[in-house]
Amino acid sequence: MPAASKKDYYETLGVAKGADADEIRKAYRKLARKYHPDLNPGDKAAEERFKNVQEAYDVLNDDEKRKVYDQYGFYSPNVPPNGGGGGPQGGGPGFGGFDFSEYMRQQAGAQEEESSGGGAFRDIFSNFFGNRGRATTTAQPERGSDLEYGLNVDFWQAIRGTQVKLNIMRQETCPTCHGSGASGSNVAVCPECDGSGTVTQMAGAMKFNLTCPRCGGSGRLKNACPTCRGEGRTMHPDTVEVRIPQGVASGSRLRVAGKGNAGVAGGAAGDLYITIRVEEHPFFKRNGDNIEVQVPMTVSEAGLGAKIEVPTIDGRALLKIPQGTQNGQKFRLRDKGVFNSRKNTRGDEIVEVVLRAPDVHNERTRELLRELAQVDATDPRHDIWDKVQQPGA
Ligand SMILES: [Zn+2]
Ligand SMILES: [Zn+2]
Repeated sequence: MPAASKKDYYETLGVAKGADADEIRKAYRKLARKYHPDLNPGDKAAEERFKNVQEAYDVLNDDEKRKVYDQYGFYSPNVPPNGGGGGPQGGGPGFGGFDFSEYMRQQAGAQEEESSGGGAFRDIFSNFFGNRGRATTTAQPERGSDLEYGLNVDFWQAIRGTQVKLNIMRQETCPTCHGSGASGSNVAVCPECDGSGTVTQMAGAMKFNLTCPRCGGSGRLKNACPTCRGEGRTMHPDTVEVRIPQGVASGSRLRVAGKGNAGVAGGAAGDLYITIRVEEHPFFKRNGDNIEVQVPMTVSEAGLGAKIEVPTIDGRALLKIPQGTQNGQKFRLRDKGVFNSRKNTRGDEIVEVVLRAPDVHNERTRELLRELAQVDATDPRHDIWDKVQQPGA
């Protein structure tokens, strides 16, 4: 065991030996603020003071560690509190059995000064004699958590925008206690530990059973509201009206302010977030604000050029195909795409034309195609041979 150096932690924090937990906490906060490295960049002395303050607080704030320190003048995890069995025997001042009654008297004195609120005495007291419940302590306002929902909308709902009624479950302020969590002299089962008095905490792969911080291990909460078991909030189904904006895209997240879970002790409610998934359409494909479609054309339309009718989300539109259009060529119909409510603009429709071979079901068509083959003598494959030629061949 390395020799633990003797340090006066009380002096480091500038408090008296009998200081109670609250005084120690206050002193620590003041000094930690003063010497914090972020506020004293490059100041080695301040950094050292900050470390010492941390170390002192680490020991004095922990009842078990403080007991050891008070007895031996130093703290080491290898020294058990209360002297005796297994600890160092005989010798220095302060060694010997731990005077429990004296300790309780000191702590009781501290308790009086502290009047209310948590502290060393309460923690120790509840560990030994069971708990008094937390329902009477003043809770800090806390914002309610956000809620996440997914919502499917069909293609046309997304294009035009719509109003949707969403049924959700959310925590609301308890109607019985109006959020205070307290009510008369009831005793309720602790919601934190479900009455077991212990909670399980994970630290990496290790599992710890800890005394429930909510009820102090008793599993019961005194003066807790019977409706919400001291939680101040209850789960309720709620219907939320959501406006889906015109042109909403798949994956976009809508925020409905204040429709998340209710806050605690007067804290604001969280928000409701709705992630939209837009269902696909069999013909119109969305690509951002653009609509993409594939439209067939005949050989004569491709060769001679034509005005063809194509579907858009507004209905039919005319598309002019120039003479000599090839299969797979794309044309743009401006402002026939999806309305973007943020930019206040519309996307385009992109039409890809797909060449359809003529349906040769009569002699006349065949004749015309034979004639065409004679007239149009160009070989469409004439330039591919250069591309596939192997070196040295
Ligand atoms: Zn309640
Ligand atoms: Zn509990």
